[in-house]
Amino acid sequence: MDQELKAPFALEVEEVAGKLATAPEIGLSAGEVEKRRAIYGPNQLRREDVKSAFAILANQFKSIIVWLLVAAAGLSFLLGDLAEGIAIAVVLVLNGAIGFFTELRAVRSMEALMRLTEVRTRVRREGMLREVNAHDLVPGDIVVLEAGDIVTADLRLVEASNLRCDESLLTGESVPVTKSVSSVAADTIIGDRVNMAFSGTAVTQGTGAGIAVATGMETELGRISALAQTADSDISPLERRLDRLGRRLVWLTLALAALTSLAGILRGHAVADMIQTGVALAVAAIPEGLPVVATLSLARGMWRMAARNAIMTRLSSVETLGATTLIVTDKTGTLTENRMTVTGYLLAEGDVKAENRDGSTGFSAGSSPLDPGEDAALGWALSIGALCNTAGLGDGSGAAATGDPMEIALLKAASGAGMSRAALEERSREVKRHAFDPDRKMMATVHACDHGFLYAVKGAPEAVIEACDAELTGEGERAVDDAGRERWIERNSRAAKDGLRLIALAMKTAKSDAESPYEGLTLVALVCFLDPLRKDVPDAIRASREAGVRVVMLTGDHAETAANIAKQSGLASPEMSVFAGRELADLDPQSADPQLRRRLLEADVFARVAPDTKLKLVKLFQDSGHVVAMTGDGVNDAPALRKADIGIAMGQRGTQVAREAADMVLKDDAFSTIIAAMRQGRIIFENIRKFVVYLMSCNVSEVLLVGIAVGAGLPVPLLPLQILFLNLVTDVFPAFALGLGRGEEDVMRQPPRDPREPIVDGKRWLLIGALGVTIMAATLGAFAVALFELGLEPAEAVTVAFLTLALAQLWNVFNVRRASQGVFSNDITRNPYVWGALGLCLGLIALALYHPGLSSILGLPLPSAAGLLLAGVMSLVPLIAGQAGLILSSAFRSRAAAKIESSSA
Ligand code: ADP
Ligand code: MG
Repeated sequence: MDQELKAPFALEVEEVAGKLATAPEIGLSAGEVEKRRAIYGPNQLRREDVKSAFAILANQFKSIIVWLLVAAAGLSFLLGDLAEGIAIAVVLVLNGAIGFFTELRAVRSMEALMRLTEVRTRVRREGMLREVNAHDLVPGDIVVLEAGDIVTADLRLVEASNLRCDESLLTGESVPVTKSVSSVAADTIIGDRVNMAFSGTAVTQGTGAGIAVATGMETELGRISALAQTADSDISPLERRLDRLGRRLVWLTLALAALTSLAGILRGHAVADMIQTGVALAVAAIPEGLPVVATLSLARGMWRMAARNAIMTRLSSVETLGATTLIVTDKTGTLTENRMTVTGYLLAEGDVKAENRDGSTGFSAGSSPLDPGEDAALGWALSIGALCNTAGLGDGSGAAATGDPMEIALLKAASGAGMSRAALEERSREVKRHAFDPDRKMMATVHACDHGFLYAVKGAPEAVIEACDAELTGEGERAVDDAGRERWIERNSRAAKDGLRLIALAMKTAKSDAESPYEGLTLVALVCFLDPLRKDVPDAIRASREAGVRVVMLTGDHAETAANIAKQSGLASPEMSVFAGRELADLDPQSADPQLRRRLLEADVFARVAPDTKLKLVKLFQDSGHVVAMTGDGVNDAPALRKADIGIAMGQRGTQVAREAADMVLKDDAFSTIIAAMRQGRIIFENIRKFVVYLMSCNVSEVLLVGIAVGAGLPVPLLPLQILFLNLVTDVFPAFALGLGRGEEDVMRQPPRDPREPIVDGKRWLLIGALGVTIMAATLGAFAVALFELGLEPAEAVTVAFLTLALAQLWNVFNVRRASQGVFSNDITRNPYVWGALGLCLGLIALALYHPGLSSILGLPLPSAAGLLLAGVMSLVPLIAGQAGLILSSAFRSRAAAKIESSSA
């Protein structure tokens, strides 16, 4: 086999197949695939995003802190203080290890998440059509394409029927290229190689098949991405913001630390001691761990989302998800089950009820049963429904039905009446198919029959009725005029009001199979389907309303059907406002008059929406300040999905193109999953805020404590190694625990966060300051009492200060709860990680105090029992003060709320 297949587009299909030793009709054998995979490797862009453990380790040495510590250790050795130098080195290693393992875990967890969105692709192997993971493609595989697919390798096409690809990814040209199989000149540029389908491009129309001629990095896309390697980093904006926050603090901190050292030296403390203290303080105050902990809690939250069937495909979206203010959802399959059954046929001469029981369909008109064999119109309705159909019922022996549920329902109704598709096909073989066109809302198939060709058409009733100039009765065709069409439209609306989904069936016969399928039709019937509301939808809609998130429905279906489902689901207000197709068709939100804009913004339902209207509506909502989440499944939805702040694609119903464009994929297509994911999005952000406030308030307390004590001429209450111990060992665990919290019960009863709000807003800066000051004051108080009241040795007083500070910082986790939550029952007290972290830290502190070696290195001689008691009691002061503050603020807020309520009443 030829390994260097140059310019396959210039060769004939047979040549390409020959050179790659494959057969377009049969494909490769399993053994051959194995062999080739060993040669060519997986079909995958070699991305740098699998970070090696070594790179992560190296990352740990990039922080300022490490170098500060190295300097401090060096200084100790230089001054001959061997024990201290070693201790700093140990802290350095410990800190590095914690950082390394955390980051490793976070990174691996993220990578695994990203792998959840694997792409499947259909191939012909051993003469059969199979679905495989796109990674498993090898050169020579025969890949089968269909509208909505993303091409998974570079293909030399061997079949192309009406095939068009959007190649803007490679060429920048946004108009889809029509594909064919004939070869082109060897010097043809990419955009004109019409017999190739390139990896990463989207099939917008038609069907086809091609021989994989290049996979992985050998594809055109691979070549580009090799050039653009590393351009696209996978850091979320959240982490970047935290990083920036940290960097901004660095200089402030360094200045403060330097000032403290200077003040100490002026006050007569030893220069070397003060330099070490300054270094330790700088280390303490730089929040370098923030981005890593953020990654960890992001990954954690995303796994929780994945467990609830929501797969995030872009990290950055997790944050936006919690700030969403408006969900634009489709109806079929998201709000409804998409498990349809045919409940009746509206024929020219009356309504027929249908009921499918155990695979056989019973029909009745009024109260008398009806035999489709005797009613010609009903018979035609059943056969047109089964013929103009792309679904399959399976083989009856366990293989599941495949295809559009509505089409499956049509097949079931027909086969239940003894008209299987296979039998129908025998008499009227399908020769041509016009795929469903979402703009016209119709599809057609053409069948060869005795005296020419039969056109079978189905589609949205308005569209089909419009295209009919006759109707089918028991006795044959009968012309219809405008009044007749109007009557059909009315029958359609009446049935749709009951929440039924309707579709029209029509037919015509012609001498040629090349006629335009959508004119001069004879209307056969309107079919009614029941598509029940998903059970969990009303609750989910209620939940989103409580969360301050508006839900609007946007559907291609009939306005009345949509309105009925909107009412059932509780989505719409009693005075529901519905916009339907025609009003929206030539809508220009930018130039719409203010009154129309307001009506659009307040609408509950948009029905009979054409795909391009979706994009306009997203823009309209965004311009009015909404953060928009929008669902979509078709190729046409991709622009709107991209434009929306959160594009949501359907995992089951959706096309690959839609999935590629989306930020989130719903594995179960269910609306309630969006709400569950949103909840997680909010929790992640809240958790990050909590540990940021926690860590920063602890750090502030340390800087203030040493700074003020030294400035006031007191002995230094905290030694450099102790500062390092607190910061790099004990502070970290409660912060992790906060990052992993399961969230408050009432996160979804809060209004959405303003997306422009910083992570640490004014209120939180205040809280950080207040908590820091309180912890500092309690520690300084304990230190002073130990020195001057209990008369302890200065070294023992330092132990008291250390212990007070360490414990106060531990208890401080309880101070970062939301004010609206209970003192004893809140998400922090319910978080098992918090208790675990507290236990671990208490153990570490006890070790520092009671382990003879450790206590002497850290400079922690055991004080008297009174000293220990003092530390214990004083450490509770910040906790009590913090809780009192929270209670006060909550009382104040509910009074304010009550006042607003009474003044508005
Ligand atoms: P929705 O699924 O929300 O109703 P779509 O845009 O998918 O919206 O479909 C629009 C309309 O086109 C449907 O309400 C139906 O009347 C019609 N339709 C959908 N799928 C088919 C199909 N496979 N064949 C014929 N008509 C269809
Ligand atoms: Mg649909």
